[in-house]
Amino acid sequence: MSSPPEFAVCVFCGARDGESPAFRELAADMGRRIAARGWTVVYGGGDIGLMGALAGGALEAGGKVVGIIPRALLRQERGKHEITRLEVVESMAIRKERMIALSDAFLTLPGGLGTLDELFEVLTLRQVGLHRKPVGILDYQGYFGSLLAAIEIMAQHGFVVREHVDHMLVMESADALLDALASAAVTR
Ligand code: AMP
Repeated sequence: MSSPPEFAVCVFCGARDGESPAFRELAADMGRRIAARGWTVVYGGGDIGLMGALAGGALEAGGKVVGIIPRALLRQERGKHEITRLEVVESMAIRKERMIALSDAFLTLPGGLGTLDELFEVLTLRQVGLHRKPVGILDYQGYFGSLLAAIEIMAQHGFVVREHVDHMLVMESADALLDALASAAVTR
């Protein structure tokens, strides 16, 4: 499908590898697919875990990669200096702000608490109308199933508005999810 020029996807994912090598492959594959579309990857700027695999995959495929990393995490998360641009910022909050400002869409891969923090940041900012950018979740082998089920229960109890559940793009196929993000971004 045709995609907007200079389209940038922010990917949230783990700073760890996970128990199976399939997780690193999933992230590298996503990086390659984003690059193959001519899009830019925006991410946390580190070279560890799935974050490093994602950036490596995108660079390998000739893609543009922009990383945003807090100064305090440069060593711990191994700031990846060989990407297209590494922005070093002064706080975790500024990192999220910059990642959000630079991106046209958000995509979540398996990860831990930091990944959830980033996902909920974009979901809650969208809920209060501070952006209209699409939010995607790659539900690899049901990784996010119980989280999505918990959100569904919250909606049933009336604490989450149905519309805020429905706009989340949840898919198992990487390409279908990227297509969905691109079309939701152009129509928003
Ligand atoms: P994790 O999913 O816990 O492996 O973390 C993934 C990434 O999220 C790591 O680069 C963390 O540094 C980052 N992260 C964790 N908490 C925050 C936060 N509050 N703001 C911005 N990034 C965060």
